[in-house]
Formats: sequence, structure tokens, C-alpha cells
Amino acid sequence: MTDKDLPDSLRPDTLAVHTGIHRSEANEMSEGMYLTQGYAYDDAEQARDAFAGEIDIYMYSRYANPTVTAFQERLAAIEGAEACFATSTGMSAVFVSLGSILGQGDRLVAAKALFGSTLQTFTNFFEKWGIVVDYVDGNDPADWERALATPAKAVYIESPTNPMQDVLDIPFIARLCKQAGALFVVDNVFATAIGQKPLELGADAVVYSATKHIDGQGRVLGGAILGSDEYVNGPVKLMVRNMGATISPFNAWVLLKGLETLAVRVRHQAASAMDLAAWLEQHPKVSVARYPLLPSHPQHDSAVRQMTLGGTLVTLDLAVGDGVDVAGPEAQAAAFRFMNALRLFTISNNLGDAKSISTHPATTTHNKMTPEGRAEVGISETTVRLSIGLEDVEDLRADLDQALALV
Ligand SMILES: *Cc1c(COP(=O)(O)O)cnc(C)c1O
Repeated sequence: MTDKDLPDSLRPDTLAVHTGIHRSEANEMSEGMYLTQGYAYDDAEQARDAFAGEIDIYMYSRYANPTVTAFQERLAAIEGAEACFATSTGMSAVFVSLGSILGQGDRLVAAKALFGSTLQTFTNFFEKWGIVVDYVDGNDPADWERALATPAKAVYIESPTNPMQDVLDIPFIARLCKQAGALFVVDNVFATAIGQKPLELGADAVVYSATKHIDGQGRVLGGAILGSDEYVNGPVKLMVRNMGATISPFNAWVLLKGLETLAVRVRHQAASAMDLAAWLEQHPKVSVARYPLLPSHPQHDSAVRQMTLGGTLVTLDLAVGDGVDVAGPEAQAAAFRFMNALRLFTISNNLGDAKSISTHPATTTHNKMTPEGRAEVGISETTVRLSIGLEDVEDLRADLDQALALV
């Protein structure tokens, strides 16, 4: 697993550069990339024993690959999880985390504010397959108590949520999951492994879109599921291997190297995000700036209890003036003027990238929701999501200031 026998209880920053190392005879410093579909057997007996499950060796890259193994070991070490299984995308991680354990008639309880494709998966497929999906208001304790008074097979949440950054009380939900006998899965993309540890807070499994901060430079797609050895190396592994949601070794290598710089990148980006959020909330052209660690955040207490960093995103509502309908075309025009005027924030829908990004959720990531559905979770035409990158924070502030003048 490592280059040397490592001392016990190393911290995540150290583990990020010293785990998942399996040097070849060449003794390379940077991890090798094994771009291979399969592996050669020494003899027919070895092939027979491998297929019989009597020996554990690499057989086929849909099953396992050394570069993918290295990525899994390193991410598990950083997260503090017993096991990790990598997947082709964040969405295949979301799908497999639940699809591998749910069957007809099983009940899934999920918080309402969900990533678009996650909601699409639940409504178009899980429900068709006879899985009962029960949605709750993630910040209403009574709704959680109602939903988990009856048994459930799994509970699924994101915290903070996209794009409104609601912070859900993970330890509280975890206690209710125990009573309901549910496997508790947390999508930890917004908080990152550096800023929040759902497994320590009582969750049973964590999923990532590694496409976001783990890559952090917008190059590849990937995902991961972390949790107990029994769950990850049981149903999760069985499903990924056989349905083929396997990550490519090239992508796994990019993400493995991304993990080495994850902590420094995310800390820098989160510090800039906190600084800009506090400044933006005082800006006359901003009506609300949402950031989990701002004292004005509605779930600030939960955020302080469970997050060590507030994440790298700031969600704004622009102040478009009294009498302007925030769901109407004038509000949208103001948001578009602001986004089009930004020079350092590229208009895109990735997040966690080295480059700062602006997104208009109502017309892009959340355009499938009805206006009423958007209003219910707090998204209006004036809402703009900012992903804060690695640029100098003063350059970002100046850019935001000149663009806000046009709102
Ligand atoms: C991007 C994202 C996903 C899906 O990840 P992909 O890598 O795009 O498949 C899931 N959840 C959240 C919160 C995301 O931001």
C-alpha cells in the first residue's frame, strides 16, 4: 500500500502523498499509469485459480487495475474509510451506492434538494423499478422524524446542497437512520473530504463526483463510493464490476495525482470563498450571499459543528431593486449582465476547478425544475452560483465589483 512502513495515525495531508504507492521494478517516483485492458497469467493453473477466486490477482481492468487500486487506497486513507471503490463518473457512484442495495418494494428516503441527474435517476428509474422514494424537507427535523418513523432501506442527502448551500444536520439524520435500519449515504461533493467527514458524523457511506475538486483542474470524469469493507467490497464492487461503471486507468491516474494537491487547493479556495462571501453580503448590489460558515447562514450552527471548511462555492442573490419580479425576465437580464461582464469567472457548470466559474442555476443546472419547484428550494432568476478558483482573491474581488456595477 505504501512506499515504506508508515508511522501510525498520519494526518490526511501526509496520507495524500504517501499512500497508494506500489512501485514497479523501475522504482518510479511518480505513480505508474497502467493503461492495460488485461493481465497475463503465468500458466493455465494460475488462470484457473484466479477465476475460481482462490487467488487474488489482477485479471481484467473492468474488475480491477493497479492505477485504480492506488486511487482507491489514497482516497480511503484521506477520508478515513475502511474501503473505497472508484467509478466512471460521480453519477455512477450515486447510482451504484443505492442501486446495489435497493430492490423492488424497498423504501428510499431522500432530502428534496438534489443534484439534477440524481433526481432524474430516482424519478425515471428507481420509481419504475418499484423502489418507493419518499422526499423530505432536509432542514425540517419533524419531517425527518415522520419519514424515518417507518423502516427504510436507505437515506440519501447532499450537504451543503446545490446551489442554495443548505446545511443538513448529519448527526441528527444519522441517529434516525439507525432507528429506521437505513443505510445513510451522503454526497459530500460540496464540502469535500478536506472540509467534512460524514463517516465520523455517523453516515454509513460517502459518494463523490471526483470530476469536481478531486481533479480540480477540469480534465476528467470520475467518482467514488466509500464506506465499510462489507458494503464497498460487497454489493458495490459486485455491481460496478458486472455492470461496467468502471473508471478508466487514465482518469484514475489524473485523480490520484489530484489527491496530492486536494488539501492545499481546497483550503486556498475555501479561504477566498469565505473572504468574498463576507464582502459580497455587504455589497449594495447583493441581497443575499450564502456560504455555510457565514454567521448569517440559516444553518450556521450545524455548519460550524460538522464542517471544518465552508467549501469553495458562494451563492448570490442579486439586488435587482424593489418591484422587480425575481422570477421574471428583468431579473434574469440583470443576472446575465453580471455574468457576461465577469472576466475572471468563466460561464460553465463545473465546480471546484482551479479557474473560477459562474453558473445561472435557473436556466442551466436546474432548468428541468418548474418555477414553483425552484422557488421552493430558493432558486430565483437572480441566483448566481460562484465557484471560487485559485486566482488571487483581490483580482476576483475587483472583477466581481466591476460586474456588480452593471446589475
Ligand atoms: C457533479 C455532481 C454529481 C455528478 O457527478 P458527475 O461526475 O458529473 O457524474 C453528483 N453530485 C453533485 C453534488 C455534483 O456536483
